[in-house]
Amino acid sequence: CGIVGYTGKKQAQDYLLAGLAALEYRGYDSAGIDVLSGDGELHGVKCAGRVAALVERCRTANLVGNTGIAHTRWATHGAPTDRNAHPHLDCSGRIAIVHNGIIENFQELRAYLARAGHTLRSDTDSEVIAHLVEDAWNGPAKGDLVSAVRYACKRLQGTWALAVVCADAPGQVVVARKGSPLVVASTPDGAYAASDVTPLATVTSHVIQLDDDQLARLSQDGSVVVYDADGTVVEHPSTLDIDWD
Ligand code: GLU
Repeated sequence: CGIVGYTGKKQAQDYLLAGLAALEYRGYDSAGIDVLSGDGELHGVKCAGRVAALVERCRTANLVGNTGIAHTRWATHGAPTDRNAHPHLDCSGRIAIVHNGIIENFQELRAYLARAGHTLRSDTDSEVIAHLVEDAWNGPAKGDLVSAVRYACKRLQGTWALAVVCADAPGQVVVARKGSPLVVASTPDGAYAASDVTPLATVTSHVIQLDDDQLARLSQDGSVVVYDADGTVVEHPSTLDIDWD
């Protein structure tokens, strides 16, 4: 299983689909992608099965855009079906998330969200994250995606590597980790995220390794800013120089 994210000058789907293929060795049962297009909407494809099947569907899906996220799933909660594949959307359809790991308190959170008027569409533990980000986005985070993800993470118990895009925060991908690996990279062509360094082999030899409870904002100009759980900027995140030979 694995996640990838990109925002920059290039077409997002090229890196995202190649990145999923590079992460295939980790094992998976489903795959999916969401791209934020110039029309201000999220466009996505997801299905149970191989990355090759997703790539085939993307040929006709017209996923044009410079910002996006993608996922390979190893189902832990909810059968490996098209509907349970990631990305998962919030109620408005303007926030999309991908998640690797397990949300241990998802039943409690699903019950809370149902009471708060959210309609959940999958059987996964992960979908609650999209709805928690939505609530925070519309509430205390006041339209800041890092804050919204930070608020959502405070309510989660378990493990996660996650990537989030919001149609109302164009040119941004926000990622967060606890207990599941996640690396990010800043380049002149854009900012990248991945579960491990393998998708970045053609991109860069210098990566940032997020530590537990850290988040990062990837921006379309290629910059990456790392934050701790309080929202304070981490000036010197852990870095790794890779010799690809
Ligand atoms: N627990 C999540 C699910 O079953 C994510 C699994 C994964 O890490 O791919 O959908």
